Amino acid sequence: MHIFGDEEVQAVERVLRSGYLFRYTSGQPSESDLFEKEWRERLGCRHALAMSSGTAALISGLVGLHVGPGDEVVVPAYTFIATALAPLAVGAIPVLAEIDESLTIDPGHLQQVITPRTKAVIPVHMCGLPCDLDAISRIASQNDILLLEDCCQAAGGHYRSTPLGTIGQAGAFSFNQFKIITCGEGGALVTNDSDVFQRALVYHDTGCVFRDNESLQNLPSFAGVNFRITDILTAILRVQLQRLPKILRSLRREKAVFREELSSVPDLRLNPSHDQDGDCGTVFPILFETPQQAARVLNSLNEHGVPAVSPINSERHVYSNWEPVLSKRGAHHPLLDPFQLVAITPDYSRDMCPRTLSILARTIYLETSATRSESDLLSLIRRVKQLLR
Ligand SMILES: *Cc1c(COP(=O)(O)O)cnc(C)c1O
Repeated sequence: MHIFGDEEVQAVERVLRSGYLFRYTSGQPSESDLFEKEWRERLGCRHALAMSSGTAALISGLVGLHVGPGDEVVVPAYTFIATALAPLAVGAIPVLAEIDESLTIDPGHLQQVITPRTKAVIPVHMCGLPCDLDAISRIASQNDILLLEDCCQAAGGHYRSTPLGTIGQAGAFSFNQFKIITCGEGGALVTNDSDVFQRALVYHDTGCVFRDNESLQNLPSFAGVNFRITDILTAILRVQLQRLPKILRSLRREKAVFREELSSVPDLRLNPSHDQDGDCGTVFPILFETPQQAARVLNSLNEHGVPAVSPINSERHVYSNWEPVLSKRGAHHPLLDPFQLVAITPDYSRDMCPRTLSILARTIYLETSATRSESDLLSLIRRVKQLLR
């Protein structure tokens, strides 16, 4: 969303002038340490680990949860492709579940795709819309399945007053350019489980028990990668974190005004929400009877300058465009490919989740803005009302 000001510029300058950009210091707490502390306090969780991306956070989270070859991980058919590729990166197989009209994973279908091999589920709070975490948590605990929340689009959201990311065993956040708060590229893993945290810590820093994690000598070390963040980025994130409440307030307020003002439009159907207050407010979804009707309205909104999109057009956020999954090319080399490692793999096809495709094609998003003036919003809504009638 990139709302930057002088404060971000000053934060970057402070770090640059210090001459030390590396997150692990020998002396006082680094910007990254401080960001992690502030993010922990904001979410009320025990551990936070900043890293290079949301994808890195998802992969490290799965490593933390001991997910690996032979395991299946359920992901929704509507999410950024990174959610579905994260299981492959740790040797596991992604299993797709339909979404329902809430645009998040359908708990009923989650139940149906569970097999004895299912180790984890990654519910995704798409566009800041909270998943049905009560139903998902119930199914997960009944089936002994771990829960990794993908909160990459939902920083600051909550479900029944509990911050998103802290309800499952772990939560992954992204701070790339297009997210609610951003430092260009970045991410964070949060958890209350110190085993998950320590494994992710070691994995994300070249698999070594050294530097700030020297105290983990009892944890058998294993090979890892470098997903470290730099202090330049976390210095920016610390400023962004201070902006977050205001950004969310603006987005949620716009969404509430949309809801209020459009309630008088006859037959207008909104996608159901699992928590209207916890929703981040980044989009205002409207559901139509047919894809043709949605496309017609979308065209006329766009022609009249109203910022609106349909999620069916969101490319790699729709499973039917996930080429590496559909073609079962799960790694750069066949001997590392999870699809080659196990006897039973899912049958993927472009039409395997017809309900997801139908719901996405029948939905359009009016886009909210954190910077629009009240009068611009109201004039936009007047146009929307006319076009919907
Ligand atoms: C952005 C995003 C990711 C990946 O985050 P990166 O920081 O780009 O790696 C994962 N899942 C979802 C739902 C996202 O929107």
